[in-house]
Amino acid sequence: MKLWVNEIFYSVQGESSHAGRPCIFIRLTGCNLRCPYCDTKYAYDEGILLDMAEIRKSIKSYQCHLVEITGGEPLLQSPTRYLINSLLDEGYEVLLETNGSLDIGKVDARCHRIMDIKLPSSGEQHRMRWENLDLLTPRDEVKFVMGNRIDYEYAQDVLARYPFLLDRPQPPIFSPIFGLLDLKTLAGWILEDRLKVRLQVPLHKVIWGEQRGV
Ligand code: SF4
Repeated sequence: MKLWVNEIFYSVQGESSHAGRPCIFIRLTGCNLRCPYCDTKYAYDEGILLDMAEIRKSIKSYQCHLVEITGGEPLLQSPTRYLINSLLDEGYEVLLETNGSLDIGKVDARCHRIMDIKLPSSGEQHRMRWENLDLLTPRDEVKFVMGNRIDYEYAQDVLARYPFLLDRPQPPIFSPIFGLLDLKTLAGWILEDRLKVRLQVPLHKVIWGEQRGV
């Protein structure tokens, strides 16, 4: 069984409740969406075909037990879920970054799924698969990536429609688009509205900026 892989690297996790932890990243090729602010456009088409054994061999050298499968959109390739199963069976802690438009139901529930809820700046908000919200486990997290006040208010509307998102073990993540919305502005809005969310500082961008593969 093979997967198109864009890159594999070892770095510090920049997002979610796992931010700050050393982590191996497996970035898979391909995405079904086209968000204008996307910072991984190079993953749309670039990649090499690797089998599961080659992927496992490659990550073993890092001596790290936290692995994130990201993209692109990892669920676009059907063997992704088998990779997740096998890594979990080997004792890895596995995170999956997914854009919310595809069915997360077939992903092993031991995996920590970090799911986007797309906002108007993405131009892809209509692609959201809302049924995914019913499939979230206590391990999973939802993330709103926002570039302006319109996005912020849209996210508030989503939370009003699905209030259980505010009562999950991990609060919803509000993450600014680097270069479009500054942290101070977003922090001010969150405090003013007394929102029970997590302000996400994109840690990897603070450390490395737009540098790729770190
Ligand atoms: S879903 Fe993610 S990878 Fe795909 S276009 Fe949007 S930001 Fe880029």
